[in-house]
Amino acid sequence: MSDYDYDLITIGGGSGGVRASRFAAQRHGKKVAVIENMRIGGTCVMRGCVPKKLLVYAAHFAHDFEDAEGYGWQLGDNTHDWPTLIAKKDAELNRLEDIYHRLLREAGVDEITGTGKVTGPHSVEVNGKTLTAEHILVATGGWPHLPDLPGIEHAITSNEALDLPDLPKHVVIVGGGYIAVEFAGIFHALGAEVHIIIRADNILRGFDQTMRDALRVELENQGIKVHSECTVRSIEKTKSGYSLRLDQVDMMETDLVMYATGRKPNTVNIGLEDVGVEMDKNGAIIVDEYSKTSVDSIYSIGDVTDRVQLTPVALAEGMALVRTLYEGKPTSMSYENIPSAVFSTPPIGSVGLIEEDARRDHDIEIYQSSFKPMKHTLSGRNERSVMKLIVDKATDKILGAHMMGLDAPEILQGIGIAVKAGATKADFDATIGIHPTAGEEFVTMREPLRPSEDG
Ligand code: NDP
Repeated sequence: MSDYDYDLITIGGGSGGVRASRFAAQRHGKKVAVIENMRIGGTCVMRGCVPKKLLVYAAHFAHDFEDAEGYGWQLGDNTHDWPTLIAKKDAELNRLEDIYHRLLREAGVDEITGTGKVTGPHSVEVNGKTLTAEHILVATGGWPHLPDLPGIEHAITSNEALDLPDLPKHVVIVGGGYIAVEFAGIFHALGAEVHIIIRADNILRGFDQTMRDALRVELENQGIKVHSECTVRSIEKTKSGYSLRLDQVDMMETDLVMYATGRKPNTVNIGLEDVGVEMDKNGAIIVDEYSKTSVDSIYSIGDVTDRVQLTPVALAEGMALVRTLYEGKPTSMSYENIPSAVFSTPPIGSVGLIEEDARRDHDIEIYQSSFKPMKHTLSGRNERSVMKLIVDKATDKILGAHMMGLDAPEILQGIGIAVKAGATKADFDATIGIHPTAGEEFVTMREPLRPSEDG
């Protein structure tokens, strides 16, 4: 042990910070402290992936009840009680928080509640006390970012959406990214009228165009209204709710305005500029491939570095950092072929390149399938699934795999292993399908789209 109070002080007890701290302490016997000013578990566990997914499950029952009738079930008047859902979700988050506390305790990590501020290359101030460490890890995550416009204080973000006391009757969601489409599905299935307002021409920028188009069709078929190339000019509070002034439709009255317009790194007022940690114009901490900042003793992982804002990426960055610092093996993480999913209704799963990007650098073939999932033959639900494989003609390698439809995230996790391992189309063709599943479609697509079909 050095002259410092700790080997490692981590600021931020989210997925990445907790993982790195636990493994440094448990596997390597390091003296570690984690400083957190909200709830341990961070965005993913307390304000993001986990509570969101619980609400998505709740929403799916609405479709399941409708679909059940096609299978002979006669269900009564199914009503949903939002406060019960929120209370059950809160109880689950409390349980998870307790587990996080226990894991840290058992690993021997000191948990400190407060706001950490970096005061030097080896020092952090918290609750009026200065603590020193050989290394400092900044894993402070991100926070919803809202544009500046009159009345923006009336808008909520995903943070508050997860704790609403009641389900509003009419919701406007501004933004067309992951969070916007996921919450649109939740609110709509549970009974609200939902409008999505996007400034671009389509939802989910960065996703494969076929999936974006397919999801939009499904959202609109369900009755979710997507207003493209539309901007909110102002929000006013009215007697009964809110009134939005728009540049396309004149006015829109609603009970709730939610902004899901991206997230910004949490780097304000934590002392980073003063000690020379470089940040980009959005406030993201600039790091090298080993997650080291411009100050040798200070490292950073997770959303605050704005590399790929996904929990499993923060976890992997944390593990790589522990190897780098404590196993004598400088380890960087691979950002290629990271699978991800959007838990929209229906969901999207995706790994590798989207068609537009693949086409730029490769001579490609597209294999695509669009079908009515077997479940919906009897349910009668008007919902399709779409799959796409992007194949490099020169090497036969799968460059990208995308799916929108029932179970897409679960299916794509498996496909993600194959793509990461460098599978070829011939490997997919040689794989026997599991019948009857939707996933088997990925190994039975025989004919590429003709150029006229794939545009
Ligand atoms: P995204 O970056 O995904 O989407 C932001 C959306 O807001 C885009 O549609 C963007 O439009 C729009 N937008 C940005 N600025 C403005 C503005 N000033 N006015 C109007 N619209 C604007 O952000 P999210 O908030 O949805 O999610 C943040 C991150 O969290 C994601 O990038 C993702 O990494 C992570 N996440 C992952 C999930 C998952 O894995 N399932 C779930 C939820 C979040 P445009 O397209 O025109 O730029």
